Amino acid sequence: MLDIADLRVEIDAESGLLRAVDGLRLAIERGETFALVGESGCGKSLTALALMRLLPAAGYVAGGDIRLGEGAAALELLDLPEARMRAVRGGRIGMIFQEPATSLNPVMKVGQQIVEAIEAHTPLRGAAARARAIDWLRRVGIPEPERRIDDYPFRMSGGQKQRVMIAIALAAEPDFLVADEPTTALDVTLQAQILELLKELQREQRLGLLLITHDLAVVSGMAQRVALMYAGQIVEVAPAAAFFARPLHPYAQALLRALPDSARRGAELEAIAGTVPALDQRFGGCRFAPRCAQAMAHCATTVPELEEVEPGHQLRCLLFRPVAGDAASLPRPAAPRPAAAEARPEVRPEVRPPTGPQARPEAPPPLLEVRNLSVRFPVGGGLLRRGREPFTAVDAVSFDLGAGETLALVGESGCGKTSTGKAIVQLLRRVAQVEGEVRLEGRDLLRLGGADLLAARREVQIIFQDPFASLNPRLRVDELLEEGLVALRPELDARARRERIEGLVDRVGLRRDALGRWPHEFSGGQRQRIAIARALAVQPRLIVCDEPTSALDVSVQAQILNLMRELQRELGVSYLFITHHIGVVEFLADRVAVMRRGRIEEQGPCGEVLRRPQNAYTRALLAAVPVLSPAAGPPTRNEG
Ligand code: SF4
Repeated sequence: MLDIADLRVEIDAESGLLRAVDGLRLAIERGETFALVGESGCGKSLTALALMRLLPAAGYVAGGDIRLGEGAAALELLDLPEARMRAVRGGRIGMIFQEPATSLNPVMKVGQQIVEAIEAHTPLRGAAARARAIDWLRRVGIPEPERRIDDYPFRMSGGQKQRVMIAIALAAEPDFLVADEPTTALDVTLQAQILELLKELQREQRLGLLLITHDLAVVSGMAQRVALMYAGQIVEVAPAAAFFARPLHPYAQALLRALPDSARRGAELEAIAGTVPALDQRFGGCRFAPRCAQAMAHCATTVPELEEVEPGHQLRCLLFRPVAGDAASLPRPAAPRPAAAEARPEVRPEVRPPTGPQARPEAPPPLLEVRNLSVRFPVGGGLLRRGREPFTAVDAVSFDLGAGETLALVGESGCGKTSTGKAIVQLLRRVAQVEGEVRLEGRDLLRLGGADLLAARREVQIIFQDPFASLNPRLRVDELLEEGLVALRPELDARARRERIEGLVDRVGLRRDALGRWPHEFSGGQRQRIAIARALAVQPRLIVCDEPTSALDVSVQAQILNLMRELQRELGVSYLFITHHIGVVEFLADRVAVMRRGRIEEQGPCGEVLRRPQNAYTRALLAAVPVLSPAAGPPTRNEG
């Protein structure tokens, strides 16, 4: 159905010529879901854009062929005149992108947008096209399609917009669908619905589907075959079952081991050291060699090719180089993965709240007590304007957090978890009505002012999701770290401050020369390390972590989670960890509180809530989380 041969995409960047996709080949059959996976910058989205001939202005296809269709009717996409390519795009190839809000035309009714696709690519016109559009809205699960067809996109929720995108993509009756991170912007329950819908429609229409994602759990539930990309090249192609049960490439093995979950609780995640190489160079050896734990001497000087090592299983690694007639050089059966129990030598006991008055005397008082916390935002005006009812983001929430403990606050977007965190750090005083009690070691932060509030502020710090947005780009790293110290630790002189910030960069794993550099000079993971160092600078007792790893790739997330846990053990700091990632919760949290519509639905020890949820919403939330198929573990190294 789709055959890509030796595709090369180059980007004319300011820093020089980047070989962003280098010699990619893959073939996808009718009715097959083929997943292209990899971390950011590996070239997977550029492959999709090259296939659609929608590369950004600085990018171009430097070589290769892309054939769509079978036999004599196949089209050479790269040779088609643009006018014919326009008919293919959206006609024979449908597209679904990550962000439905920006892909839909905001000033056009959704029905018109679907009708436009139908009229452009099928013989239907007028009333017949409208009737088909209503039918598509029904098929993608939009309730009351006869009425909703005349809605504008802004009247639809995120999940509904993505359903409309799918309806537009499929209304043209394509043979092939490209879905680039189709559910990344959605909550897990919506994600589950959209994936199920895609599966169903794909089965019905026998579509070829190229699914591009960084989420391996999504892949394991959707794809028949998987290709893993690293630094512009495919390094492994395999049937999905084989890939997850027995990944062969050292990078694939490392990625799967870097995923946080309950089996790795108490153990270190296997972070992949180093970073992805720059793509402006000519490589004389394996691109993964500087980070590969199994690298051999000749890996740095021999360029591995993508070769078939088992039927249907291709690999770019010198460990598994097939030698003609030498069975011993083929990959050996997988060695059993260390049992979960062996992999976690030390499991932290779950901290349970005291259960009755008799338990009180021995239990230390919690570090943080939140009682009936409510946050209301004014609607359509300032705090003092009367009129419309304020919007209640947090509604009488209560919980405790012990010293050195991690409480995960989970829930879908808009459930109030971030507002809860910000109210605790006292960031909402000027923008919302905050009521209730937030007691830190007995002092109610909501009722403090002046010097007392300043003193309390250094005890509670916050780390945000996006390290790009949360660091002032006009300050060097040393200034960023010193800023909080000057404000909140006025007793320290310049020398003491310098000593402290030098110790901090060491502690979070950055080099000392980082202090003289600007935030934009660092990668996402390094910036999050700077954000952690900044939070730690004033020696807080509690850090509110608002999705601190959700913008990071899996391998970098592993480094940051390891670091955060290490710091907790060493410094006894408590974390209120806001996240939607259940794997992270299982790995890190002692207790978990599940929020929905501003209220806590259920809270308790992590193992209990996640394994025996009592609340119907918690059960629905957990059921929607995509689960990676159980992996048998990495194979032994091939000595042949
Ligand atoms: Fe690359 Fe060698 Fe590691 Fe294989 S073993 S991934 S060829 S460095």
